[in-house]
Amino acid sequence: MSQAQIIDGKLYAERVRAGVAEEVARLRQEHALQPGLAVIVVGDDPASQVYVKSKGEQSLAVGMHSVTHRLPGDAQLDELLLLIAGLNEDARVHGILLQLPLPDHLDTRAALAAIHPDKDVDGLHVVNAGRLASGEPALTPCTPLGCMIMLRETLGDLSGKTAVVVGRSVLVGRPVAQLLLQADCTVTIAHSRTRDLPAVCRQADILVAAVGRPQMIRGDWIKPGATVIDVGINRVPFDNPEKAAAGKTKLVGDVAFKEAREVAGAITPVPGGVGLMTVACLLQNTVTAAKRQHGLG
Ligand code: NDP
Repeated sequence: MSQAQIIDGKLYAERVRAGVAEEVARLRQEHALQPGLAVIVVGDDPASQVYVKSKGEQSLAVGMHSVTHRLPGDAQLDELLLLIAGLNEDARVHGILLQLPLPDHLDTRAALAAIHPDKDVDGLHVVNAGRLASGEPALTPCTPLGCMIMLRETLGDLSGKTAVVVGRSVLVGRPVAQLLLQADCTVTIAHSRTRDLPAVCRQADILVAAVGRPQMIRGDWIKPGATVIDVGINRVPFDNPEKAAAGKTKLVGDVAFKEAREVAGAITPVPGGVGLMTVACLLQNTVTAAKRQHGLG
């Protein structure tokens, strides 16, 4: 059998960004509306700093208003809540993103709950989770949105397909399952207590892996011709003993890519797949939020 088609995250992310840039230009010209994104980062976690920088740069590149607020690692919850309250009122800001994880002493739930649901471009507020579960228009978490764009680009109509989502987190598993249901798939959500996970996965026309366990899903768990979306981002030592001894690491997904590629019809690589879609979808959510706040969509 021939090898699976590679679903190219770079290509689709570029398309999303180009669409966002076009829409931002139109909103600025026709409605004097410049969508704005505020990113809040607490502490100096190096990975968070990299993500935040990239979000700021990409927002500016598509013509948005972009602002980053940095609080020290020992900031208290009331300070963070005050900042969020100010941004909720700020007319130039249509989307607020709180970079996670927060330092341990801060209550993540309380902070997320303080963001106005209409500005919650990460889609993590319970109001947006509830809207999504009820099938109402919601701001939806960015990574699941990215998964759906890739699936639609690859498969077209998803109606009637059997989808298995491995993982039930609030950030990925649950919202992606809701979106697949909205797309008229027959959806199974698997998790750490699922019995005979390989057999469950083998049912899937669409298999979404969001587990956080390197290469857990093997080639013989995949139905021939299935479309595999690998959300996992795991840092592991190199196979090469010299590189491993030097402490070098590489990124792998939750799916054993080489094996899976022999069986699947299409598959996202890691890196180069879903990960690239997440920030692009954040920009798209900010435009959606701005339009809704101004009665334009
Ligand atoms: P979580 O740790 O929050 O959730 C993992 C889920 O996997 C849980 O529901 C858990 O089940 C399930 N699980 C764990 N072990 C097993 C197992 N052995 N068999 C079956 N299910 C299992 O992770 P996230 O959802 O936040 O992230 C998942 C992966 O996606 C990570 O690698 C993360 O880095 C990556 N990620 C990538 C993003 C991107 O931009 N591409 C964005 C966000 C995440 P249970 O609920 O029973 O514990």
